[in-house]
Amino acid sequence: MLNTKPYLDMAKVHFDTGRLDHLVCPECNAQMVSVSFTRSGNDRYCTYFDCSACGNVACTSHAEEPEYFDSSRIDPRHQEFEDRASRFVDSATEIVLTESRKGKNQFSRLFASLRAALTGR
Ligand SMILES: [Zn+2]
Repeated sequence: MLNTKPYLDMAKVHFDTGRLDHLVCPECNAQMVSVSFTRSGNDRYCTYFDCSACGNVACTSHAEEPEYFDSSRIDPRHQEFEDRASRFVDSATEIVLTESRKGKNQFSRLFASLRAALTGR
């Protein structure tokens, strides 16, 4: 069973502060995680967390544009993956992450190691 707390902690730093680089990796603890995005249609966005030290990948999906979305940070590899995988997403490991900020509840779905879950690695 995946220990999700380090993933939630990492995601929370991004969602609370908007930090895009040098997040702490939940797998190897290196401060080497960078954020990128994907956008599929008008209602499915993902925020990706890539560790350049160990290669771990995690992502959250959103039903609306995430607060720190930046189209210049769309990662073409992840975008291609999302475009191909979108029909499988409901079967992926997911955790409901509830954040309360600025009086508004924001729900995100955390797909920890989505790529691994989808490929059964
Ligand atoms: Zn790592």
